[in-house]
Amino acid sequence: MPEHDSQPEHRCTVLYAFFLMRSTLPSNIRDLRPVTWTPWTTVELKSPQGCLEAEGQAKVTPGYNLNSKYVIHTVGPQMSRGSVPTVEQAKMLADCYRSCLQAAEELPVPDSGRKVLVFCSISTGIFGFPSAEACSIAVRTVLVWFSHHRDSTITDVVFDVFSESDLDLYRHRLSELSYDDGKSPGVVFPAEEQHIVKLYESPTMQAGRTIIREADYLILSAGAGLSASTGLDYTSAELFSQHLPGFKKYGFRCLYDIFGVQSWPSEQARWSYFINHLILIRNWPQHELYSNLWQAISARFSSRDADIDRYFVRTSNADGLFIRHGFPVSRVSTPQGHYAQLQCIRKCRKNAVFDAAPYIAAAEPHLDPITQHMPADFPVPVCPYCNSDLVLCVRGGSYFNDHPFRQKEREYREFYERALESSANKVVILEIGVGLSTPSVLRWHNEDLVEESEGRIKLVRVGRDAAGFCPFDLMEQGYGVGIQGDIPDILAAIMGSSF
Ligand SMILES: [Zn+2]
Repeated sequence: MPEHDSQPEHRCTVLYAFFLMRSTLPSNIRDLRPVTWTPWTTVELKSPQGCLEAEGQAKVTPGYNLNSKYVIHTVGPQMSRGSVPTVEQAKMLADCYRSCLQAAEELPVPDSGRKVLVFCSISTGIFGFPSAEACSIAVRTVLVWFSHHRDSTITDVVFDVFSESDLDLYRHRLSELSYDDGKSPGVVFPAEEQHIVKLYESPTMQAGRTIIREADYLILSAGAGLSASTGLDYTSAELFSQHLPGFKKYGFRCLYDIFGVQSWPSEQARWSYFINHLILIRNWPQHELYSNLWQAISARFSSRDADIDRYFVRTSNADGLFIRHGFPVSRVSTPQGHYAQLQCIRKCRKNAVFDAAPYIAAAEPHLDPITQHMPADFPVPVCPYCNSDLVLCVRGGSYFNDHPFRQKEREYREFYERALESSANKVVILEIGVGLSTPSVLRWHNEDLVEESEGRIKLVRVGRDAAGFCPFDLMEQGYGVGIQGDIPDILAAIMGSSF
């Protein structure tokens, strides 16, 4: 058969098999862990079906190089992150579990008599299904299935998890089960510490540490996840309620909701929001995550002569936290803008960009401490050149004036081009907390750099969920690793003593 016909058309089947080997397993099924990983492209399905696999079904293949005899593949619902599952999607996910159980039931009983079925958290992580809901559906569906299949040949079900937070979810959910009534299934937790694969021992962690240790040059590429790790989380309703309660009446839930909003009830309301937002950023406390990063990077990659420093920061964060924690202005590029500046909404001229500090100072004394608004007759400042509105100088639409940030972008490009001039130099991109909201600016750019340099630039990607996911083709070529989890913990493990 033609080779392409023998490959699954749904990438997630590969992911699931991959997750299977990176496990937190009880000792009695430890021997399921494979000794080697064979990419899917080297195995064959018996008969290509000629169409995409439907969600909720299950397919069985041999385990090949895995130490499990079979692999059951299922396609779960895929969602955009942050969305709430519909009833249909929840049902589809339950169908996945039922189909896998049924497929396992139909497989022959092994000589040992133990038929162990290991589930990963289907549809979670990069596929976007919220972990807590997915965990509830998984546990409930499996229990209900067994209640209807009392004579099942499946002897053990393992919920294999990828992260510590998922482990907590499953532990909590399973703890709620009554299992001493003689009817419910027994529940066995992995022993504390002993069988939990610690993050810093994982192969990806070791690979990330090695890449950074061997690097001569470092590009620090940081997204919203990094500042969120200091508590400045743009998706947090709690943060918004705490710091900007006066603006909830407009229907805003979190800081992200404001970007690009054009229809404010009044100019004073719009301006009041900007000033409060800027004050929040200005007063954001120092955080050891940033200061540790500065210490670790300056110790390894800076020199007496700033011109030959061997690091560069490129961040989509407009909050200025790198500079606040010691990184020199000359080494930080912010292609998405910066809260330190305001701009003319019409971009009437390239330099219609203004330092925000005097505007904050002028407005701050007039803000009502309860409503956070300025008086209705407060004179809202306008562009001194054309009298148009002033807005935050951050990318949120076509109004954005990126002129002030282009020079740093040029310097950034010169930095890595210079680093690549000598074939002996090794360059690493340490990408932290870059999700999928605007992937072209940092995430895809970084992947392109790695591919175009044919691995002379390597990628170490760190973050929660999708923000820590590295494409398989880069990993297979040894060009990069993705490490998912808590950012401070991971940095502590791969960056050394400053953390
Ligand atoms: Zn103007």
